[in-house]
Amino acid sequence: MIEDRARIPVTLIPGDGIGPECIDAARRIVEAAGAPIEWESADAGAEVFKKGIASGVPQETMDSIGRTKVALKGPLETPVGFGEKSANVTLRKLFETYANVRPVREMPGVNTPYSGRGIDLVVVRENVEDLYAGIEYMQTPGVAQALKLISAKGSERIARFAFEYARSEGRTKVACATKANILKFSEGEMKRAFEKVAPDYPEIEPWHVIVDNAAHQLVKRPEQFEVIVMTNMNGDILSDESSALVGGLGFAPSANVGNEVAIFEAVHGSAPKYAGKNVINPTAVILSAVLMLRSLGLFDHASAIEHAIFVTLGSGVLTGDVLGYDRGTPTTEYTDAIIGNLGKRTETWTVRDVKPLVLPKLDPDPDYVKTTSRSVVGLDVFVESPLSASELGASMMELTHDTRLSLKMISSRGTKVFPPTGALTETGDHFRCRFIIKENPGDLPDEDVNQLLARISRRHRWMHIEKLQEFDGELGFTRDQGEN
Ligand code: NAP
Repeated sequence: MIEDRARIPVTLIPGDGIGPECIDAARRIVEAAGAPIEWESADAGAEVFKKGIASGVPQETMDSIGRTKVALKGPLETPVGFGEKSANVTLRKLFETYANVRPVREMPGVNTPYSGRGIDLVVVRENVEDLYAGIEYMQTPGVAQALKLISAKGSERIARFAFEYARSEGRTKVACATKANILKFSEGEMKRAFEKVAPDYPEIEPWHVIVDNAAHQLVKRPEQFEVIVMTNMNGDILSDESSALVGGLGFAPSANVGNEVAIFEAVHGSAPKYAGKNVINPTAVILSAVLMLRSLGLFDHASAIEHAIFVTLGSGVLTGDVLGYDRGTPTTEYTDAIIGNLGKRTETWTVRDVKPLVLPKLDPDPDYVKTTSRSVVGLDVFVESPLSASELGASMMELTHDTRLSLKMISSRGTKVFPPTGALTETGDHFRCRFIIKENPGDLPDEDVNQLLARISRRHRWMHIEKLQEFDGELGFTRDQGEN
């Protein structure tokens, strides 16, 4: 029965594969709980790709989400390899849903090797930057490049979000897992942002952990984590790992949250082999709907559904992913059981008392990091060449000796190979030649760049250049292994 109050419009995207079954279960439960929601059905995914819409998201769906600001969606199939981009990533990026929230919690009745240890953590994943920008190039026929773009602003925004999320749920610790030991600029940006904002949340204990150790600790002692914030790809991988600890993807909900729009969906995909068989576990989408209700301020409805899920699972009503597909409760019966348990309260499982989430407000200036001085000290030129490092080095020196720049070194996949170091580094056909301004660094006019490239082009094929910059006296580029 729907309550007699203004209904809140929500865009409902059934999605592909098992999506429609999961979404139907969630919709029925939300309605049975009396939540005042007005659904607006919309398409995205496989059928849309088939109509030739390369984004997988038609304009009407964009318009609907733009209007409602909230969507509950089923999984969308992503064509693998070349061609179309992921419709999921499109939605996240177009609505700037920068925070991906993935709660991972032990469930009653779902036995795993970790049962009884009280796993109850939340992965907060940055959702719009990093390698998921999907900017890739074949630099040579045999060498691919992907750009990992991480901004100071994006990092601060997600770090603050993680602390605010912890605060809204009364959590006491936030971990930040990065690969800053290797990727000092990109992953380092996240670590620095985390350390910058942590003092603003004195009641929460911050700690940094290297991401590979985080993966190890999640398997070894997952109960030590409460909230973990990560860049996009690390968060993608570790959140799937985390969900496996509590019974798998069938129990892993998520929220994509931005300043304007929030999109709620399961972590899992469209699991096409189970589509239409009435066997899958809709809990992840139902729990995503619970997150959605909380974000809409419908805390009592959310808690009522969460209690009903816990009561249902605790009574041994479980789907095939838990019991085996020959013995599990069918999806529709499982949904009926949850509806039947609405109003009952679990005595053995805690339902969190959640307060409204405060979204961080950041300086809207595009130049988020202000500098007082900057200079250019050189140029990296990426070259495709069949020569050995020594031959290429000698050739580059001969070609460029009377330009404003001098060859400092050549590297292969980040390791210095010229001048020779005595190391056994294998080189392919992909080199980076580092040129440094000989005198008066600070500015590198285009004429100097053009002259250098023209000289190089006499004998070699270059495919990419990168200016070597300094900001406020700090190097804006890394040194290679073996480079001084
Ligand atoms: P998947 O659809 O998540 O399925 C992987 C496996 O997880 C399934 O074979 C099944 O395991 C289990 N599983 C997932 N959801 C389940 C559920 N609700 N109930 C029970 N078991 C469940 O991953 P995938 O096969 O890699 O991807 C399929 C398609 O989904 C791809 O096109 C992918 O791009 C897309 N995808 C979409 C999203 C999204 O829309 N957000 C996310 C991820 C993937 P068992 O076989 O062991 O039973």
